[in-house]
Amino acid sequence: MFPEINRIYALEPKEKPQDEGKLGFGQVFTDHMFEMDYVSGKGWINPTIKPYGPLLMDPSCMILHYGQGVFEGMKAYRRPDGGISLFRPQLNFERLNLSNHRLGIPQIDETFMLHALVELLKVEQDWVPHTEGASLYIRPFIIATDVHLGVHVSKTYKYMVILSPSGAYYSQGMAPVNIYIEDEYIRAVRGGTGEAKCPGNYAASLLAQLEAEGKGYVQVLWLDGIEKKYIEEVGSMNVFFVIDDELVTPALNGSVLHGITRRSVIEMAQHWGIKVSERRIAVAELIEAGKAGRISEAFGSGTAAVISPIGEILYEDQSLVFNNGETGPLAQRLYDKLTGLQFGKSEDELGWTYQVT
Ligand SMILES: *Cc1c(COP(=O)(O)O)cnc(C)c1O
Repeated sequence: MFPEINRIYALEPKEKPQDEGKLGFGQVFTDHMFEMDYVSGKGWINPTIKPYGPLLMDPSCMILHYGQGVFEGMKAYRRPDGGISLFRPQLNFERLNLSNHRLGIPQIDETFMLHALVELLKVEQDWVPHTEGASLYIRPFIIATDVHLGVHVSKTYKYMVILSPSGAYYSQGMAPVNIYIEDEYIRAVRGGTGEAKCPGNYAASLLAQLEAEGKGYVQVLWLDGIEKKYIEEVGSMNVFFVIDDELVTPALNGSVLHGITRRSVIEMAQHWGIKVSERRIAVAELIEAGKAGRISEAFGSGTAAVISPIGEILYEDQSLVFNNGETGPLAQRLYDKLTGLQFGKSEDELGWTYQVT
């Protein structure tokens, strides 16, 4: 049913990391990667599992000059029975195609991408960490490879998947972070590429991140790009507030990324009978509600941290502290449930996990 995947095995497998507790994030790569090419008129061809290694690229390659590319981020988890699971992987491939659409990149068969990932993971299964909280980070990405400096839609692309064993996000336990509400720079604007996962969005966010760090804040909270009045996201996470016993998050308005953790938080909270609303949240409303003591907790959501509690936010000269700067009960409950599902320790009543082995 699927095209045959070519296989070229590494002759000398690398040493596995000695201490999985010291892996950090995205620094170590496995023995193999997946690669597939797109050629206009032929479609996606040559699916291949091959040794991990550098790419030979022409300096005029389009991705290097005009940034036509997209990526995804997901993880493989070791279960207590020794098997390997993914968490809602179909949603990552669905989103990759959403990003592809926005960047003018041809669609890829989502079931084939999942099949190819499973085949790669079977080859690399010994690289999935066994240490609690550590996982194998999965980075699918696409780059435009036309050799041509004219600005145009590329006729050739490369789809690749690389794998990186990574340590637990919270090696010292879950700790709330402080956030700077950015009122000068913007990350994305409706009609732009904000809801696509593409390299340029990150490039656009780096200066603000650098300046926030200089002021002593860990991350930036982005406002909308038009009026700079409404909350959008935190760094590379979606954001939630508990206001008057209701879980509130910015609606997907075209510039907010469709986080899979965001969707899982919403669906799990609803499953638990918690009222959730996706709507526009003005920063003025947030400050007012916070000052009136109506916000009991705040947190970010994303694949890397799962849940990242927010202890304090600063907007201009006004600071708000949530839950005395400590992790709130809903943040903790969601974190425990989602990581429990991912690592195969919690009952999967919603059918979110996908077993690779
Ligand atoms: C990837 C990403 C998120 C989080 O998405 P998840 O699917 O939950 O990992 C949020 N915001 C931005 C800008 C992102 O790139």
